[in-house]
Amino acid sequence: MRAPERISAKTGDVGGLPIRRALPSTGRRRIGAWCFLDHAGPATLTAPGMRVGPHPHTGLQTFSWLIEGEILHRDSLGSEQVLRAGQINLMTAGRGISHSEESLSERLHLAQLWIALPDAVRHCEPRFEHFATLPQQSLGGFDLTLLQGSFAGQTSPVPAASPLLGIDLACASAAANEFALDPSFEHGVMVLDGALEIEGEHVEPGTLLYFAPGTERIIVRGSGPARALLLGGAPLEEPVLLWWNFVARTGEEVAQYTAEWNAGDAKFGEVHGFEGPRLLAPDLAGLHLKGSI
Ligand code: MN
Repeated sequence: MRAPERISAKTGDVGGLPIRRALPSTGRRRIGAWCFLDHAGPATLTAPGMRVGPHPHTGLQTFSWLIEGEILHRDSLGSEQVLRAGQINLMTAGRGISHSEESLSERLHLAQLWIALPDAVRHCEPRFEHFATLPQQSLGGFDLTLLQGSFAGQTSPVPAASPLLGIDLACASAAANEFALDPSFEHGVMVLDGALEIEGEHVEPGTLLYFAPGTERIIVRGSGPARALLLGGAPLEEPVLLWWNFVARTGEEVAQYTAEWNAGDAKFGEVHGFEGPRLLAPDLAGLHLKGSI
């Protein structure tokens, strides 16, 4: 097995919440179709908390895994859903949707992911799904929650447009487990809390460990309270372009989506109930867009 690749997350702030962005990064754009990974918190928010005004998406699914706190989601389909710890919101943007998000709690800890939709379905009708309960099991001292795909005899209820895996693993004290993986997938492990030893590498929050296709197992050890996200997927062999909140294939598409959103085009609908302005896309002038395979 090739040595894993260590990817350092960039730090930032989204709507008042400190984040670590591991995907996309300079050396690694995706893990399967997972094309965006923000680890937000754990943090105690200051007033008025996290508030992300109405903004659009295209060509992707937003996948929100909440570990601590409460977030209110509103979208242009009329969905109004409180997301609580242990739950997932999956929003399929397809040809276009818009939504807002705001924290309802002082504490917040979540993984905010995007999944690039394959070309065959990326213009689909938008939809929103909420998953209140997910399969759980204990292995080697780890409490596993299956977020996406199939693992160890369980299958997540969260649908996928391409082969994917997502597992939240947490331990309260010493734990060790060998995770059997699909060698046709590429994988990544992002530590969200505490520290873990993954294939002999010491990993803490802010680092994503990437494993290339061909990896058949990963040994994870914990010595105290810790949490991590194990992601996997079949490599998406398509050019994918991320710009602002859009996933596209060409610069022309990005320019079109930007112009449409900023002009208030009806394809993105309208979010009702959020107190605050919609977010406008930045100016494209002078920006050189590059695709990535
Ligand atoms: Mn969004």
